[in-house]
Amino acid sequence: MGTNLKELLNSGITELSPYEPGKPIEDLERELGLKDIVKIASNENPLGPSPLALKKIKDCLEDLHRYPDGNSFNLKRVLSDKFNLQENRLTIGNGSNDIIEFVSRCFLSSSDSAVFSQYAFAIYPLVIQALGAEGIVSPATNWSHDLEKMLSSIKSNTKIIFIANPNNPTGTFLPKEELLDFSSRVPENILVFLDQAYFDYSSYEEVDVTFQDIEEYPNLLISRTFSKAYGLAGLRVGFSYSSLEMADYLNRIRQPFNVNSLAQIAAETALSDQNHLLKSLKLNATEKQILYKEFDSLGFEYIPSLANFICFDCKGDADELFQSFLEEGIIVRSMRVYGMPNHLRITIGTKEENLKFINALRKLTNG
Ligand SMILES: *Cc1c(COP(=O)(O)O)cnc(C)c1O
Repeated sequence: MGTNLKELLNSGITELSPYEPGKPIEDLERELGLKDIVKIASNENPLGPSPLALKKIKDCLEDLHRYPDGNSFNLKRVLSDKFNLQENRLTIGNGSNDIIEFVSRCFLSSSDSAVFSQYAFAIYPLVIQALGAEGIVSPATNWSHDLEKMLSSIKSNTKIIFIANPNNPTGTFLPKEELLDFSSRVPENILVFLDQAYFDYSSYEEVDVTFQDIEEYPNLLISRTFSKAYGLAGLRVGFSYSSLEMADYLNRIRQPFNVNSLAQIAAETALSDQNHLLKSLKLNATEKQILYKEFDSLGFEYIPSLANFICFDCKGDADELFQSFLEEGIIVRSMRVYGMPNHLRITIGTKEENLKFINALRKLTNG
């Protein structure tokens, strides 16, 4: 007699579809036999990891038979020194996705709901649904979070509100005053999860909420990642800063060795490599302006972005253009799962990568 797995399954998982990541370079090489593929699909740092971090990793390979430090003691110390933080309010995750999951698992059960915006990061609904909780989608305005609408989306069983600032996939940004005003109007028993995965790209142009603001807004949690500006997406490391009580809860459900030793070492070193960070931000800012100009001259509308990617309107079937880019050896990101079927998102790459993209765009759209 076979087991009826479907009847055993937690209800939220029945209707769940797996997250669709950007297409890996190896897949496209295999499928189309192409070489020199450009992947501008997953908001990775085109300059790669900090060279200092790479060197440090190599020095540590011989200790791989040891378990990592389950408390990430050194990484917490380096983070605290750099940002003037209290170490025991930090929680380190296997990517910041780990933090999204900790918070959700700590607070959401099947009778609860969580609010996020239309065009928000695809991981929020996945995690909420997996727990059997209700995800409430609050309508966006001009592709951006509409905080008034988010406030009115709150229900009596709402426990968490997710906000990414800058937002992925749109690149839109909410200024600090608006976010803090919003946080002060959210009922005290609801947690505001502020996802600052792209903070480094925006903070030099605009002022975002900082870790120190948590003193005044104890229901606020800030998460950041080493996957984007710090170029360590493959190692999986992110962190949150929160009230002490919150950090205590998150650490109760964290796997004891969730962050591997190389990730910890690399993150510590990357944090101190200001040169590499600034070089990465500078490249992004310069190339963004060049791409904007190209979009303008080819007549494509784009959403102005405070991050390292640009979402543009294809003026037609984005799926078809997406496929044509693949055949040119360029991996971009479809926005269909985000409910933006006419848009594609590109990550701002190196000068050469962006040029290859622009030339292909011109060719494919007869621009
Ligand atoms: C990329 C991204 C993250 C980072 O995920 P990691 O698990 O840290 O790699 C988090 N939030 C948003 C909105 C992102 O786009």
